[in-house]
This record gives sequence, C-alpha cells and structure tokens, in this order.
Amino acid sequence: MTQTRPPIVVCTKTHDLPNGRVSFLGAAQTVTPAMSLVELDGITLLVDCGAEPGRDNTPTELPDDAYEADAVLLTHGHLDHVGGISALLASGFNAPIYGTSATLAIARIVLGDSIRLRGGRHRDVRAFLGGFDHMARAMKYDEPFSPIASRDLQVTFREAGHILGSASVEIVSPGSRILFSGDLGRPKSPILRDYNTTWDDSKPFDLVVMESTYGDRVHEDGPDQVRENLFEIIERARADGGHILVPAFAIGRTQAIIYHLDNLVESGRLENLPVAVDTPMGLRVTETYSVFNKLFDEEALDKLSREDDPLDFKGLYAVRKGRDSRRLRDMKQTMLIIAGSGMCTGGRIVEHLVELLPYSETNVLFVGYQAHGTPGRAIIGAAERAKDGPSETVKLGGANVPVRAKVDVLHGLSAHADRKELAAWLDAIPGVQKVALHHGDVDAQNSFQKWYK
Ligand SMILES: [Zn+2]
Repeated sequence: MTQTRPPIVVCTKTHDLPNGRVSFLGAAQTVTPAMSLVELDGITLLVDCGAEPGRDNTPTELPDDAYEADAVLLTHGHLDHVGGISALLASGFNAPIYGTSATLAIARIVLGDSIRLRGGRHRDVRAFLGGFDHMARAMKYDEPFSPIASRDLQVTFREAGHILGSASVEIVSPGSRILFSGDLGRPKSPILRDYNTTWDDSKPFDLVVMESTYGDRVHEDGPDQVRENLFEIIERARADGGHILVPAFAIGRTQAIIYHLDNLVESGRLENLPVAVDTPMGLRVTETYSVFNKLFDEEALDKLSREDDPLDFKGLYAVRKGRDSRRLRDMKQTMLIIAGSGMCTGGRIVEHLVELLPYSETNVLFVGYQAHGTPGRAIIGAAERAKDGPSETVKLGGANVPVRAKVDVLHGLSAHADRKELAAWLDAIPGVQKVALHHGDVDAQNSFQKWYK
C-alpha cells in the first residue's frame, strides 16, 4: 500500500496554526537547546526549556517569551531540554512545570548538578529544588490532562523511548491538534519501551514537530549486535592486562552499558571482570531508573519478575568517593571502569585517562558520539594515527598526555532514532497535515526532507 507522506518543512522558526502558532525559541537549525513556544487561543505553553550545555558560569538568559508562559511541558530530563528551568525560576516564574515522574526526577538531578557546576553551593541547590518541587506536576503516560484549569486544552504524554520518562507531547485544543516528538529513541533499545505507535485518528494533526538529530543517517547495528560487539571488544581488551576505561554519559548510556554487561555476566559469558560505576551522577540516575522500573520494557520487566535486577550483577561496584576512584587505578586485576563525562570534557574519566592513556595495556572504549573539539574526539584521532606512526599526545586536565592505549569505538548505542526509525514513527501517525523538523543540524534536516517523500 502506498500512502502519501505529509510535507516536511525544515529550518523554519514559526508555524501558523488555525488558532495560534508554534515558534522555536531554540533548536530550529541545531541540535540544542530545545525550547518551543505554543500559542493557542491566547494561552502560551513552553515545550521544553533547554540551555546550552556546559556553557559558562553565568545563568542562561532565556528568550523573553519564555518567562511569560502559562505552563511548561518537559519532554525529558536531558540538560538541553531542561537546563533553562533554573533561569526561569530565578526570575520568579510562577506557573506549573509538567513532566512524567521519571522526567521530573532526572531533571532534579541534572539541574542540581548544573547549579553546582556553575559554582552554586549546597544551599543554592536546595533552595532551587524546593522551588522546582513546588512547581513540578507529575503526569502519567497516555492520560490526558488540562495544563491550565478552566481552559479547553488537553495535553497527553506519549512514550518516546529515548531515556527513562521521555515523552512526546500531544496538545489538543478546540481549533487544532499538534504533536511534539521530543527526542525519539531507537526501537528495541535496552531497558526502554519503544516509542508510541498507536494514535487515535479522530482528528487530524495540524502540525507534527519532529527531532532530526540523525535525519541523515542509518545506524548499522541493532541492540543484539551491539551486545556481541561489546563482548568481543572486552574479551580482546582484557587480554592486554590493563584496565578498560569506558567514558559514558550519566543518563541513559551508563544504564544501557550496565544492562548489556548484566546480560553478558548472567548468561555466563563474561566472567571475573569487576565493573566499577565511577560516576556519582550516573549512580544517582541508575537509582532513579530502579525507582521507576515500572516503565521498563518487557525484557527488563521479565527479569524483575524473576527477582533479577537488570541493572545489578555480581562484580558490579558503585564508586562514590573520589579517593575510592583513585584507588581503582592501583588494582592489579583488570577492571572495566565506567566514568563520566561521556566526551572526556570533565569528571573522573579525565584523571583515569591522564594516568592510564600512556600505557599500551590500557584500553579505552568509547560508547557514544564524540563532538569535534572534545578530548574524546582527540583521543580517537590520536589512536587512529598512531597505528601507522609514532604516538601522539592529547591535552587533558591541563597536561599533554601520550596516547599509547588501545582505543575502540562501539557504535549503535545511540539514544536517537535514525532516519528510518524517525520515518517509521512519523508514518504511524494518522492525518498529519504538516511536519516541521527541529533539533537537528541543517544538513540532517535537509537530508531527511529530501529522502522522506
Ligand atoms: Zn535527549
């Protein structure tokens, strides 16, 4: 059966609706930060309130319109979707902030951490979180709610499969029906349920706003292949006798790696390899995943029903204190150390790399995207060139560190759907009149628009 696909609009900031409009206050032509304003019949809703991650020590300034919103709807807890909330609340913003319960819990961790990174003290974090909790409203998936009492407007969070709690946001008013994808995950990702594909067709969608991070590519490996590749890399690496360092993002990636390792250990394939989760934020997020384990996918729920925690296994250690982190490097036995940050721009992984990159028995395993200009990207480049030449140094923690360690990259663990997976999400939605792409680079948006016809 052939169906006519809806028109796609790219790199456009404003989209008119029968009774209002949608404006992108961020991420119109880039991946971050995500923030959109929905104006409907005189009401304004802010969908996400992102801030540029890792900027400087000053609080983010938000576009003026953001401060006037009647309510905020959060798609998920990543910093580029919630980071502006601290600036919003600092201005005296006094309107409800809606999210799923897991999203609000992850947002608390992320925002508290970002205040600390900007030099905030414990009491600043506590004061902020008090204000946040006062405004936060936890909502369930698939249960419509009215974000503004007495107004004829309904919002529903739908599963987006990106990180725990992530949601697409459906907004229905008497004059229009719109949908924000939020960040969409890959179907069959570990732990997470797949993005929603069942929609009621009682009313057409006037506008679907879809992310387009990977609108220009197809991920090669599915989750089963990723696990096999992970196993092979670890077995090869441990033969070298040194530690295996895994730089990982605290939210989503750390839990996905733990889940794959849990499978490998409990199936008896991976033996006698201690695994250290050496990231305080990653540990807190992992605990949050466990608190909201009702949201896990079937495979993970099945493990839970057999009293097998899918995020814990024999040989997994939580490293909370800095001094215990330093001690890991003195361990004689080969260990796998998961530490942040994911691109080696800060966090405990930097100290491990400074100490261990100069040794050929060390292995570094990258499990996520490394942006241009980051130490992670520099390490991969240096290791690649060292195959045919002398070893190079990279700048890390203020030092020039020789890269003699072996470096591997594990592909396929992306938290973002590729173009085929984006298209499958879109094709499942009935009666779409128009699709606006955002949250993607210009090339990715153009490429998807051309390809999706
Ligand atoms: Zn995200």
